[in-house]
Amino acid sequence: MSVRTRIAPSPTGDPHVGTAYVALFNLCFARSQGGEFILRIEDTDQVRSTPESEKMILDSLRWLGLEWSEGPDVGGPYGPYRQSERTDIYQQHAMELVDKGHAFYCFATSEELDEMRREQVARGETAKYDGRGLSLSAEDVKKRLAAGEPYVIRMKIPDEGSCVFHDLLRGQIEIPWSQVDMQVLLKADGMPTYHLANVVDDHLMKITHVIRGEEWINSAPKHLLLYQYFGWEMPELCHMPLLRNPDKSKLSKRKNPTSINYYRHMGYMPEAVVNYLGRMGWSMPDESEKFGLQDMLDQFDLRAVHLGGPVFDTEKLDWLNGRWIRENLDEQAFANRVAEWAINRDNLARMIPLIKERVEKFSDIAPLLGFMFSGMPKLDTSHFEHKKLDNETVRRILQYSSWRLDGLRHWSRDGLYEELNQLAQGMELKLKDFLSPLFVAVAGSSSAPPLFDAMAILGPDMVRARIRSALEASGGVSKKQLKAWDKDYRLLSAARTEHPEEQA
Ligand code: GLU
Repeated sequence: MSVRTRIAPSPTGDPHVGTAYVALFNLCFARSQGGEFILRIEDTDQVRSTPESEKMILDSLRWLGLEWSEGPDVGGPYGPYRQSERTDIYQQHAMELVDKGHAFYCFATSEELDEMRREQVARGETAKYDGRGLSLSAEDVKKRLAAGEPYVIRMKIPDEGSCVFHDLLRGQIEIPWSQVDMQVLLKADGMPTYHLANVVDDHLMKITHVIRGEEWINSAPKHLLLYQYFGWEMPELCHMPLLRNPDKSKLSKRKNPTSINYYRHMGYMPEAVVNYLGRMGWSMPDESEKFGLQDMLDQFDLRAVHLGGPVFDTEKLDWLNGRWIRENLDEQAFANRVAEWAINRDNLARMIPLIKERVEKFSDIAPLLGFMFSGMPKLDTSHFEHKKLDNETVRRILQYSSWRLDGLRHWSRDGLYEELNQLAQGMELKLKDFLSPLFVAVAGSSSAPPLFDAMAILGPDMVRARIRSALEASGGVSKKQLKAWDKDYRLLSAARTEHPEEQA
């Protein structure tokens, strides 16, 4: 059977470097075995999935050169490759499990389930579904269905013993069934959960090897059981070590830029990013540090992945990127890359409206727009001195804005204005004063072109990174302070959601 691997991203945010990392290893493994690498979009979370996010994921993986041979945009024999277009398939499969007695209806309301969990916790037990749906008689189920009561379908889990499965990197893994919940397979809205859709699709798309992040290890028992219930062969599993921040915590956008778009906007070469991701947990047989995708494809051996948490360190990436630029680009290629990156007619045309009114000659452009082409502005506390804002207020503004922007789904000029204006009101600050530290953070000075337009063009990754960097430059935040501010920020944000009409 020929090898088939897949990347299955959920389009719920920025394209994450972790997605590119897992995609790279899937691609390398498939190709090293003469097989295929495919892309599937897991968009069953209707609330959080967006077409913009899907587009960004496809664009950024393609920018990195990680090509797939089947996917929502290129088609293929096992489509559709977007889960929201396959709901009938999951419903049929959920019903098949009910008919075979491996899954059951549950009509419990969320209030009943909350109550159940509260009681379990009060008894000192771990909160877990108690199997109440299993005791309903066939008659009762029929009546409730006929009455149109909302329901979910859950899978049965053995009462005792352990699930034992094999991982290509980790060997045998054992997880007691007592730790595994009777997972919902089909939700009340008729959509499948990740577990059902993922297993059904991996089978129907003939995936032979599931290579994914280690955060999914605990899902493996549910998946194994689903394969058994359906009578299908389970693909080989391989859980890759998670990327980490330099302090060894899980790579997160609160500490490090995690969006592939950030690295693209900063002006890294895609070859260098792929090279760097390839070195996360893997090395070339000759230990060379600089290698291209083709070298990696030629030399790849999955068994050589080591499990110690690979640290994603932007300083090392800078060094590697510098080498790629110096060693691989002659002057012409350099100029072409820079034009592809940002200094080109289309990009300038988006920025001209920001400065047109202020320009008397073309040579005024560079000082006004320099920040649109830069990385982090060089700042210290003196840049944040303000006649009305003390240093603590400045840092609060930056921290709260960073939190607020983390949660912003649609990045647009008007959306930014609305969010930040609300935040200024919540903090009882005049918008003009509130924006002053943000001007400095984003543009390096308080006399810059219109802030919201500039932020909209710079994009979420770059803006968030600059705000974080400004926060450090203005004095940083201690852990204790962060905790207190977090509480304050939540109160302020809760007031906003409780009284949305006041903010309209
Ligand atoms: N949709 C899951 C994700 O977002 C896929 C996990 C898997 O590869 O099974 O990562």
